[in-house]
Amino acid sequence: MKLHVSLEEISDGRLYKSNDMVKADSHGCKGCYKCCIDMGKSVILDPYDVYRLQQGIGKGLPGLLDEGLAELNVVDGVILPNIKMTGREKRCVFLNTDGRCSIHEARPGVCRLFPLGRYYENGDFLYFFQVNECGASGRSKVKVSKWIDTPDQGRNHDFICKWHALLDHLEKTVAGEEDSDRSKRLNLLMLETFYMQPYETEKDFYGQFEDRLSDFRIKIADIGII
Ligand code: SF4
Ligand code: SF4
Repeated sequence: MKLHVSLEEISDGRLYKSNDMVKADSHGCKGCYKCCIDMGKSVILDPYDVYRLQQGIGKGLPGLLDEGLAELNVVDGVILPNIKMTGREKRCVFLNTDGRCSIHEARPGVCRLFPLGRYYENGDFLYFFQVNECGASGRSKVKVSKWIDTPDQGRNHDFICKWHALLDHLEKTVAGEEDSDRSKRLNLLMLETFYMQPYETEKDFYGQFEDRLSDFRIKIADIGII
């Protein structure tokens, strides 16, 4: 989800690389779960999140949708899945009664990042610290790569750049014609290719993503969508 605000308004004015130290460590959050409630549609899942959830809790996107744990929403003209918030408190469906994440090991990338965000530019990205989002006192410095807690970060970085570029391309393609047949076909093909087909969780994710990306490019060229 793109934020249409200036970086100065929401950050400490710095951009961070994965080896930089950032004052983001909230030391286990000590009973706070503010960023797991009332987050609207913002806990968006990317294909690696879906793979990780399928591996960690045995549910791919079809299962998550069937059980009311995820929903589909339109984000900048593109249909994407997000984790659902429910009830009076609008709690994330994975927040347990103790106020802890019940899927911590398999939690989505957005949750791993928080309170960091990504700033995309020229086909790459850096991280920024969202100063208005986490009220934890006494946060200490932590290396960005450690905070994100994701293996194989070089390949993960490459995947995120490619995925972001694809979404950017799709957004531009459907801009101004969100309800057209072309837009619907493109969205359905994207959902089917990257989200609905189950991943082989005993195999590496990134190779499967590359295969699907090549397949998707061929299909959209074949049917003349892009
Ligand atoms: S708002 Fe900050 S302290 Fe509270 S749960 Fe989120 S990261 Fe932890
Ligand atoms: S998936 Fe876990 S960390 Fe993410 S919002 Fe839900 S409860 Fe919080």
